[in-house]
Amino acid sequence: MDIYRFRVTVSRCSVEERVNLVKVTLIDYDSIKKTITAARTSHGSESDNMGPKDKKLIRNLIKWKHTSIFEHCSYTFKIEGVSRALLQELVRHRMASYTVRSTRYTLKDLTKDKDIEKAKTPAEYKKIVERYCVVPEFPDKVLEKFYETTAQNLKHILLFLSKYKLSNDLIKYLLPESFKTELVMTLNARSLRNFLKLRTSKAALWEIRKLGFMMYKSIPKDHIIMYEDLNIERN
Ligand SMILES: Cc1cc2nc3c(=O)[nH]c(=O)nc-3n(C[C@H](O)[C@H](O)[C@H](O)COP(=O)(O)OP(=O)(O)OC[C@H]3O[C@@H](n4cnc5c(N)ncnc54)[C@H](O)[C@@H]3O)c2cc1C
Repeated sequence: MDIYRFRVTVSRCSVEERVNLVKVTLIDYDSIKKTITAARTSHGSESDNMGPKDKKLIRNLIKWKHTSIFEHCSYTFKIEGVSRALLQELVRHRMASYTVRSTRYTLKDLTKDKDIEKAKTPAEYKKIVERYCVVPEFPDKVLEKFYETTAQNLKHILLFLSKYKLSNDLIKYLLPESFKTELVMTLNARSLRNFLKLRTSKAALWEIRKLGFMMYKSIPKDHIIMYEDLNIERN
């Protein structure tokens, strides 16, 4: 099982390093053999192992847009520490299956956290916000305000919970889009190609773009032949 962690550090923040920890784990995946068998079946090529002939065949099939062979290869990723803003973009990719952590449970963690009510200084705001929210690459001046307003928001959520005794299903309407969540995502290589093409592009939201690179990095080396035409960096 390969685990890839990604640290978002911001060079502008020289004194206090701002860190968001996103974790992508490739829990399971199909062997490339299924794709090779599909490719060979469609074009009557024969050999025992993945060899230069198979590579050539796969490259040709991509060129000819015969990409249904990639539907035989499936991946399951566990994705942790991403925002709900990212989540709503991710689930637009319909050719995938998702299971997302229930907000009810995440809110339980929040209500047990004694640090939130106590937080009064910029450093304390920062600490609790980073615990529960994804922090965008704001300029330093704005960043401090982001920490403060988001920390106040978290405090208000706790106040709503204690004062009005509302259920978590109602409280969740107060949550910011930056609130962290986690999910399991399963998709096949054809859908992953589409996802990576769209979401590693510079036009994509910065957070989903970084997730795209992490997912790509977690793919086994012998699978890269299925993606090499997309010219995505693995580093
Ligand atoms: C840079 C960027 C900006 C975006 N901005 C916006 C925005 O402002 N507003 C917004 O609403 N969305 C936006 N999107 C989301 C985008 O429109 C797609 O919904 C999303 O990228 C999922 O892509 P997809 O449909 O190809 O993927 P999937 O849903 O996984 O579908 C994969 C492929 O299956 C086929 N397919 C799936 N469903 C159908 C269908 N019903 N009919 C026909 N073919 C289908 C298509 O060929 C599709 O490419 C943006 C996406 C990107 C990358």
